[in-house]
Amino acid sequence: MTCSEFDLIRHFFTEQSIRRTDVPLGIGDDAALLSPPADSLLAVSVDTLIAGIHFPLDTIARAVGYKALAVNLSDLAAMGAEPAWATLALTLPRADTSWLSDFAQGFFELASTHNVQLVGGDTTRGPLSITVQVTGFVSQEQALLRNGAQPGDGIFLTGTVGDAGLGLRLYQQPSDTHCDATMHLIHRLEFPTPRIAVGLALRGRASSAIDISDGLAADLGHVLTASGVGADIHVDQLPLSSAYRLLAPENNWQTAVSAGDDYELCFTLPAGLETEVLARLDCPCTRIGEITASPGLRWRDANDQQLALDNAGFDHFTSRKPQ
Ligand SMILES: [Mg+2]
Repeated sequence: MTCSEFDLIRHFFTEQSIRRTDVPLGIGDDAALLSPPADSLLAVSVDTLIAGIHFPLDTIARAVGYKALAVNLSDLAAMGAEPAWATLALTLPRADTSWLSDFAQGFFELASTHNVQLVGGDTTRGPLSITVQVTGFVSQEQALLRNGAQPGDGIFLTGTVGDAGLGLRLYQQPSDTHCDATMHLIHRLEFPTPRIAVGLALRGRASSAIDISDGLAADLGHVLTASGVGADIHVDQLPLSSAYRLLAPENNWQTAVSAGDDYELCFTLPAGLETEVLARLDCPCTRIGEITASPGLRWRDANDQQLALDNAGFDHFTSRKPQ
C-alpha cells in the first residue's frame, strides 16, 4: 500500500473515544507503553478471522469489526478477566474508505462498551484477514480455568445455544419465510455478545468456565478432559431461542450442541453456590446438567435415557468449515 493509504487507514484507528489512564503511550510510536495494575495477572488472548473461512466473504464490515473484537473478549470473559487493551493487525486487499469506516465503527462500538483501548496495530495488503489481541486483568486466585470442575457441580449456560450455527445456514441459504426469526439468528452470528459481566461475577466462585466457540459438545469436552471428570447433559433443558425452535431441523438438540460461534459461557458451580451466584448474574443462565465422576459426555432425554450424538450433525454446523 502507498504511504497515503496507510495514513488513511491510521486515521480510522487513532480516533477513538476510550482513553485509559493505564495507557501512558498509545498508538503513534514504535510500541505502546502500558501500565498494568500491580495486584493482577495479565490475561492475553489472540484470534484471527479470515474472510471466507471464519465469516462469509460478503459479511457487512461493521459486523466484521464487531465480531473480531467480540470473539477475543469472549475468551477474557471465560477467564473472568476485566478487559483493558487491544491490538489489531489488519490485512486488506485494498484501502476501501467506506469498508474501513464501517469496520472501525463496529470495532469501537464494542470497545467503548467494555472500556477497551486500542493501543497498537499493523496494516498489510493481502486477502482480508483480521487478527485482534486483547489483554485483561485478573488475579491468580480468581481466574476461571477449565480444570476445576468437580463431581456434583451443576453445569450452566448463558443465553441460548445453536443460534449462530443456524444463522450461518440461513445466511447461506436464504428463504423468504420467518424473516424476523431469520434476522435474529443472523444477528446472533454477526454480533455475538461477550459475557464479560458474567465472567466477572463468576470469579472465585465457578469451578470451571469456557466460552462456546466450537460448539457446546466440543468445548464442554475440553473442560471434562482438563478436569478429569464426566458429565450428564439433559437435552430437554438446553436453552434454545424461539427463533431457533421455529427454524431448526428436526434433531434440534444435536445441531444446537454442535454449532459453533455462539460465544456463550459454559461454567460449573458447586451445588452450595448455585442460588447465590445465579442471583448475581445479569443475563439468563440455564442449568443443563451435572458433572460426574465417571468420564465421558452423556446426553440424556427427559426420561433419563441416553441419546447418541450423530457425528454427521456435528460436522454440519462447525464454524471451522469454509463459509
Ligand atoms: Mg475460548
